[in-house]
Amino acid sequence: MTEAPSGRSGARQRALPTIVIRGGTVVDGTAERVADVVVSGGEVVAVGPGVATPRGATVLDAGGCLVAPGLVDLHAHLRQPGAEDAETVESGARAAALGGFTAVVAMPNTDPPVDSAAVALEVLALGAGAACQVAVAGAITVGRAGERLAPMGELAALGVRLFTDDGTGVQDVSVMRRALEYARGFPVTLAQHCEDEALARGGHMHEGEWSSRLGVPGIPAEAEEMMVARDIALVRLTGGRMHFLHLSTARSAALVAAAKAEGLAVTAEVTPHHLTLTHAELAGYDPLYKVNPPLRADTDVAALRAACAQGTVDAVATDHAPHAPERKDDTLDLAPPGMLGLQTAVPVVFAALGDNGHDHGGAPGPGGNGARREPSTGLSARAVLGLLSWQPARIAGLARHQGGDQGGPIEPGAPGNICVIDPAAVWEVDPNRLASRSRNTPWAGRLMTGQVRHTLFRGEPVVVDAEAQR
Ligand SMILES: [Zn+2]
Repeated sequence: MTEAPSGRSGARQRALPTIVIRGGTVVDGTAERVADVVVSGGEVVAVGPGVATPRGATVLDAGGCLVAPGLVDLHAHLRQPGAEDAETVESGARAAALGGFTAVVAMPNTDPPVDSAAVALEVLALGAGAACQVAVAGAITVGRAGERLAPMGELAALGVRLFTDDGTGVQDVSVMRRALEYARGFPVTLAQHCEDEALARGGHMHEGEWSSRLGVPGIPAEAEEMMVARDIALVRLTGGRMHFLHLSTARSAALVAAAKAEGLAVTAEVTPHHLTLTHAELAGYDPLYKVNPPLRADTDVAALRAACAQGTVDAVATDHAPHAPERKDDTLDLAPPGMLGLQTAVPVVFAALGDNGHDHGGAPGPGGNGARREPSTGLSARAVLGLLSWQPARIAGLARHQGGDQGGPIEPGAPGNICVIDPAAVWEVDPNRLASRSRNTPWAGRLMTGQVRHTLFRGEPVVVDAEAQR
């Protein structure tokens, strides 16, 4: 976000090829049409049916595919600095590109956290040569300790547009009030991880039928909903703006719907796993399914899907949370929460929300353990892609009208950030072949329907035929 497209090195600019994306259906925020797309010198130069192939151009086949603005992930843990055994900016960005993302927002709960210009600059520098844009979120409070406000102005001057203490929520209501008031002076958005620590403390999974049956301490839905309600009240009080991270319950969605109806400046995201998996997955005490917020009930999954369809939810964000195997393979009470998400988001989200109209043959959907599989929500490809691309681009401050180059639309003069998705391709998730340094995917061995075939980042083909090019 700090780096204009022209900020690329001269050498790379000169090396940018001419690409023809041939025969796909172009879907962006404005239209849907069958067209070829020509990208040259880093930007889209032609869009239309049957365009001639310029001399020396590389042709990428997009027959049967969706050609969309690159996806934008509002919520990725890239673990650098501090936990490079789990992920690096480079490996996380490669996983993102393979997942169709041309931008990710790197969460600030690193070690040290992104609560100063120095650490933000370090992460931005690491992202400069990555396979997608790495935007950096800043912490709301120094050390994410929930007490003193981080230097938001300094960070905003570096292009930081999203601030969050993610991993934890800001517990002190007066600190959060001051943060909202302070943030109004900058073109930034505060993003809250909604969790009342006192109520959630000691819990390892959703408090409900399954936690009782398994004898595992639970985290009640109310631990999330109380903070959603509190922060909606603070938005009303301060006139501030708030983005709600990874909402997981039906009542959280209802609270956000009511706040939007009232005209408050709130937005919300959900994760692919909260649209798909339930607490029944914990039946085998497998820490792979331990996430924060926890996987909830069938009724929550259904309500979150409906909230995506109704516009209550603005974005699907992965909460990609890599953990080194020796940590994630611990027991349920000790293992850290989180699962991988970047490389599997497209098929998982299309299966949950799309109108593919067929059974996904073993593709995402709650597995065994007595959980029932929800039918998909029946959204158009354009609606699903809006949740994954142009809507999150605006929340992240990365859209073109905000000075960024993400989220489309695909038209002459637009930046060459494009993903090509084959909605019918079937592939098996092999954790050993994922680009992430970690292996904690819940989809190992599962068949996915829908695959990212090509990704162009600022005009450069970084993924071709589902293989990373760098
Ligand atoms: Zn979080």
